[in-house]
Amino acid sequence: MTNSELFNLMEKKAFELAKDEGLALKLIKRRPRAGTVGTCTYDGIISILIPSSPTMEERVKIQEVGRTIAHELAHLRHQGHGLNFWTYSMLLCMKLSIKLGIHIMPEKVMVSE
Ligand SMILES: [Zn+2]
Repeated sequence: MTNSELFNLMEKKAFELAKDEGLALKLIKRRPRAGTVGTCTYDGIISILIPSSPTMEERVKIQEVGRTIAHELAHLRHQGHGLNFWTYSMLLCMKLSIKLGIHIMPEKVMVSE
């Protein structure tokens, strides 16, 4: 599976997860160039950096994509980076892992409230 195919699957599963969770996800945009890994607007648009070549290094980054999707999805429920946000973000990361059949390590928690 190329990263692009894997991303298509991840996108599909992210929408499924958003639906399961009642999150108002409208669109996941792909950004081919570096910058921030992901952004999210509160009207349900997530923008994610997608590595395109399926090298080993890029494969590792695809997990980062999954983690970023979980992070940005969690912002559709919780603004800021408080404890509720991180707990929910971790839960979404695990749920996305199960849906994809790929283990995605949750992010390191940095509670800012
Ligand atoms: Zn955030």
